[in-house]
Amino acid sequence: MKPAPFDYLRAMTTQDALDALAQNGEDARVLAGGQSLMAVLNMRLAQPRMLVDISRTDELNAVRTDNEAGQLIVGAAATQGSVEWRASLRDEVPLLAMAFPHISHFQIRNRGTVCGSIAHADPSAELPLVLAALGGDVTLRSKKKKRVLKAEEFFQGS
Ligand SMILES: Cc1cc2nc3c(=O)[nH]c(=O)nc-3n(C[C@H](O)[C@H](O)[C@H](O)COP(=O)(O)OP(=O)(O)OC[C@H]3O[C@@H](n4cnc5c(N)ncnc54)[C@H](O)[C@@H]3O)c2cc1C
Repeated sequence: MKPAPFDYLRAMTTQDALDALAQNGEDARVLAGGQSLMAVLNMRLAQPRMLVDISRTDELNAVRTDNEAGQLIVGAAATQGSVEWRASLRDEVPLLAMAFPHISHFQIRNRGTVCGSIAHADPSAELPLVLAALGGDVTLRSKKKKRVLKAEEFFQGS
């Protein structure tokens, strides 16, 4: 099958993405790496009217450490590969470094994003489990507000 027709917006800034999501509400979906979403669209399990592609948004591709908080901060568009292939990852977050090789093969990790996996929240996926095990946070943003949830508050299924 092929996806139902949709409009496509390539967001070049975080603000572009937030504006499009605010304007289109439930009719819009974020497209990150597309590794899970495209299968869902092809099977028509979801039929959003607009896809907001965040993959080219520089700010959302950033990965950095906050040494004071002892946190690795991964932007919404950062690929799994861009985090896995950090030379310092094994020292920064050893469990994450150990988990990445178990996620399919590198072609998938080259496109799939860390946050897309967290948002998709497949119960068998490695990254939601690692986030929960490490007591990590998820930062949620909309045009109007920003809030931070602990992993166990973010994942609502069992
Ligand atoms: C062949 C294959 C094998 C795989 N094997 C594994 C595996 O072994 N282990 C594993 O854990 N995963 C596996 N995956 C899944 C892979 O890790 C995906 O990359 C990941 O689940 C989704 O990330 P993505 O960036 O591709 O998200 P997308 O497919 O773009 O999006 C997934 C969902 O999350 C939403 N979303 C994405 N980003 C955001 C955001 N910033 N804000 C709000 N919503 C957002 C989308 O709207 C969509 O609903 C596999 C995938 C494939 C195709």
